Amino acid sequence: NHLRHVESMAKLPSGAGKITGLNAVILGEALASEEDDLVFPSENFSRQAHVSSPQKYLEMYRRSVQDPAGFWSDIASEFYWREKWGQQVYFENLDIRKGKIQIEWFKGGMTNICYNCLDRNIESGNGDKIAIYWEGNEPGLDSSLTYNQLLARVCQLANYLKDIGVRKGDAVVIYLPMLMELPIAMLACARIGAVHSVVFAGFSAESLAQRIMDCRPKVVITCNAVMRGSKIIYLKEIVDRALMESAQNGINTDVCLTYENVSAMKKEMTKWIKGRDIWWQDVIPKYPVTCDVEWVDAEDPLFLLYTSGSTGKPKGVLHTTGGYMVYTATTFKYAFDYKPTDIYWCTADCGWITGHSYVTYGPLLNGATVVVFEGAPSYPDAGRCWDIVDKFKVSIFYTAPTLVRSLMREGDEHVSRYSRKSLRVLGSVGEPINPSAWRWFFNVVGDARCPISDTWWQTETGGFMITPLPGAWPQKPGSATFPFFGVQPVIVDEKGVEIEGECSGYLCVKSSWPGAFRTLYGDHERYEATYFSAFPGYYFSGDGCSRDKDGYCWLTGRVDDVINVSGHRIGTAEVESALVSHPQCAEAAVVGVEHEVKGQGIYAFVTLVEGVPYSDDLRKSLVMVVRNQIGAFAAPDKIHWAPGLPKTRSGKIMRRILRKIASRQLDELGDTSTLADPTVVDQLIALADC
Ligand code: ATP
Ligand code: MG
Repeated sequence: NHLRHVESMAKLPSGAGKITGLNAVILGEALASEEDDLVFPSENFSRQAHVSSPQKYLEMYRRSVQDPAGFWSDIASEFYWREKWGQQVYFENLDIRKGKIQIEWFKGGMTNICYNCLDRNIESGNGDKIAIYWEGNEPGLDSSLTYNQLLARVCQLANYLKDIGVRKGDAVVIYLPMLMELPIAMLACARIGAVHSVVFAGFSAESLAQRIMDCRPKVVITCNAVMRGSKIIYLKEIVDRALMESAQNGINTDVCLTYENVSAMKKEMTKWIKGRDIWWQDVIPKYPVTCDVEWVDAEDPLFLLYTSGSTGKPKGVLHTTGGYMVYTATTFKYAFDYKPTDIYWCTADCGWITGHSYVTYGPLLNGATVVVFEGAPSYPDAGRCWDIVDKFKVSIFYTAPTLVRSLMREGDEHVSRYSRKSLRVLGSVGEPINPSAWRWFFNVVGDARCPISDTWWQTETGGFMITPLPGAWPQKPGSATFPFFGVQPVIVDEKGVEIEGECSGYLCVKSSWPGAFRTLYGDHERYEATYFSAFPGYYFSGDGCSRDKDGYCWLTGRVDDVINVSGHRIGTAEVESALVSHPQCAEAAVVGVEHEVKGQGIYAFVTLVEGVPYSDDLRKSLVMVVRNQIGAFAAPDKIHWAPGLPKTRSGKIMRRILRKIASRQLDELGDTSTLADPTVVDQLIALADC
């Protein structure tokens, strides 16, 4: 299977239509084949699922692409609109040759996403339902808010913001750890039509300053300090430095609203600038617990968020209100098969898009109960996640491959000592999930009972684009399966020509979907150049993808990372997955390096399972695994032992830096400011010739 996949990458053949593969699954043809690793949802699961069969999916999918206006207006009508959208449900121009790139959904419709998250759910009788369970860094430290309580807190902050002059369209920067106050702040902004820009509270003062200077907020919301594992981080000091830097560049911020995070440190220890700095607890509780909603146009901006920065300087992605609301709610409901009795936990930080769409908006729009976790998943030990799952009876657990691999490395006993009986759906996002990590997640964490939604999407897409619908069809470990409703992904060759059937190439999308981003903040030209120019007529994702004979999509990694060995184009994901399938390999990252004969050679960074020593034999057996699974041409030329890999703060491997280490261009490492732990770079350099 792998071999064919690689060959097809090299030849890019054409064949049958896209959905025909799934038809084959329905007819049972594909199931006869031994080489396919199909994992079926249980009959019980499928019976209760929103989408219970491939036929049902195809029926809904067909309507969603044949009649997008009808499909999405039906769903949008389930939300509250102060005024209905105009005659034209959506407008799009994705073709740069026809003029300005423009996407609009539900234009003219007046609504408010905070109202739809909170007031609407309360009005339908869910005011006393738990909206947020909060779990602190220290086990035992927790609290919760019902929908009624959450609304009251949001309104108090919204009233304060209005009082200090924040108006519709104004920017607010939020630099908070995963306290309840983070989603509260986002919702408060949305309630008054302010545009939030959440900056992950692990970023440096310089990165924060850059973002402040970009969007010029009236207010920055932060807290004094936070505990991360056993380490204390003084957030307010970082904000102070960022505000000083932006002031030196002529950008002044009126107010720094600071939450006293009591678990972390005493108030008296915080440096204070009178007139600018305000303690949250001193002012917010005094404000009324109700606050009128600012009705905004569906196309008014909701938030600004920077991408993870895996490939370089982060891009300021702008999302608007109406389409994003409809899209995040719908994707959440179907991809996780959400039911009102579920308890949902997503481990992502609100500093990333996942924390926007699938900690905050998507779940709350569905009236869900959400777990918000402040701490680190390895503190106090590697069993913390399952402790939390058992404690709150979490039924849907959504995380990233990086966490799955790191827990896998620690051993099964940290998982098996917890019950995890409440779990019913698992999810993964951020990188391709290696099939072996998928199986571990499925078998060990989910007791072979819970479907895994491997959701492919991006900051830019707002919500899931390619994702399993658990219950609808059999899964293949490592495949993101099929497009979500309304999404028309296409695979194009280097000339931008769509290729059909079993193939591999550049992943593009050929029409708009409601959750699509509308621009890069302040730089529409860069938006058009980055996403719509490489393949005119399409949105280009920057990722590579292959489609197998059953129509399943396999993300192969970023196209900039593709390695060309003697004319074979090899995606990073494939070689990495082969390496990780070795029982002693915990994580792997491959890059191409110049090679005299082959053009490019494969250079693999490998992290071993806890306690396994490096050896020459192991090196050989790792190379063998790749030879056997993919082919001799894909065998790594070099294995570089890596105690840790450079990752973005959202947990993605940064191959850009690994490429420089592999080619020993050590003075060209570039911007390392978005790295989670810059010290791994020195460690890798030191181990280069071992
Ligand atoms: P930047 O664009 O600044 O380099 P980034 O692309 O890492 O950063 P995000 O928007 O957070 O920023 O990540 C989206 C990318 O993550 C996708 O383009 C893809 O490469 C990867 N990705 C996300 N989910 C999946 C998945 N389920 N399977 C494969 N890849 C995924
Ligand atoms: Mg990206």
